[in-house]
Amino acid sequence: MTMPALMETYARADLAFDHGEGAWLTTTDGRRFLDFGAGIAVSALGHAHPRLVEALRTQAGKLWHTSNLYRIPGQERVAETLVAHSFADSVFFCSTGLEANEAALKMARKVAHDAGHPERDRFVVAGGAFHGRSFASMAAGGNPKHMTGFGPLLDGFDRVAFGNLNEARQAVGERTCAVLVEPVQGEGGIRPAPEDYLAGLRALCDEFGLLLILDEIQTGVGRTGTLFAYEHSGITPDILTAAKGLGGGFPVGALLATEACARAFTAGSHGTTFGGNPLAMAVAEAVLAEVLAPDFLARVRRIGADLGERLDAVVRDYPTVLAGARGLGLMRGLICRVPNGDVIAACRDQGLLLVPAADNVARVLPPLIIDSAEVDAAIEKLRAACATL
Ligand code: PLP
Repeated sequence: MTMPALMETYARADLAFDHGEGAWLTTTDGRRFLDFGAGIAVSALGHAHPRLVEALRTQAGKLWHTSNLYRIPGQERVAETLVAHSFADSVFFCSTGLEANEAALKMARKVAHDAGHPERDRFVVAGGAFHGRSFASMAAGGNPKHMTGFGPLLDGFDRVAFGNLNEARQAVGERTCAVLVEPVQGEGGIRPAPEDYLAGLRALCDEFGLLLILDEIQTGVGRTGTLFAYEHSGITPDILTAAKGLGGGFPVGALLATEACARAFTAGSHGTTFGGNPLAMAVAEAVLAEVLAPDFLARVRRIGADLGERLDAVVRDYPTVLAGARGLGLMRGLICRVPNGDVIAACRDQGLLLVPAADNVARVLPPLIIDSAEVDAAIEKLRAACATL
């Protein structure tokens, strides 16, 4: 077989899209699809949102890139907005999720180091997690499928069952500096943390002087119906990572931290060439303005609850295809009885895009701007797909 010019790191569906509008995508040969995958939870405001298009177009005509050697006013504004609407006192911008996690792990070790505990270099992490594909985030996620062939891997991660506070407590040792979890595991199969889990981890961290790091790369920026998912739990983390929805499709990542943690990063501690460049910040500013507009998040909660009920009804009607549905806000998962790839392919045949996840789950991650007619259309397509299986 000849080598394709493009490396085959993804098992791609044979579809290429030409343009999109809202929750809809149109292929190069004119077929329309309802996009309930949102580019893996990225296109928070759907496709070609007029405010985002305008923000990018205006900034593109003015200035693309200057580097972090200079002040970038857009960065300061987006950081101020994130600080005003979260636990955080300070923000660092990068371009992807794994970069944000890399920065978070570095920051946690540096905080311990600066506090006179350089021996505290280990992290308690969760089974079934996904944090990215760098050496650090791959080791933090611990999925053997992602790690095989890439050793030696980064050491320093003690894995416990997601949701089990006793195991987390057992795993804490003299060398632990932080606990890292996703509030709802995304790639792991849309597994929400059990009630009181995050509060329990917060208490554990406080008891042993550890940092709580939340990976909100998939859950953040409105996906679960609040700006960040930790808001459902009544606690705050010390460090939080965001990406995906923050740029609505433009690559933006962010590390949010309390003042005590942020002080560990000083000039030269960490950096990036592209992170937070003027184009990225123009889009992120527009995304946040929309997501934080009155009623936006309440609407996500309403429509998310409705979607959840409608998915439960489909599960009841097709018990040989689907075993259950779970999730929060507009982050939902269908637990499949048949291979999840078959459910996703059957939905695609009906013009509905979903995303696979572990645990034989098909993820339902629509843009946050969907309306009830689009929920109706998606449910109809899902039912039609299940009827073929
Ligand atoms: N963390 C979580 C929870 C994610 O869902 C992802 C991506 O799916 C990542 C980290 C990695 O983000 P990126 O692919 O932008 O590096």
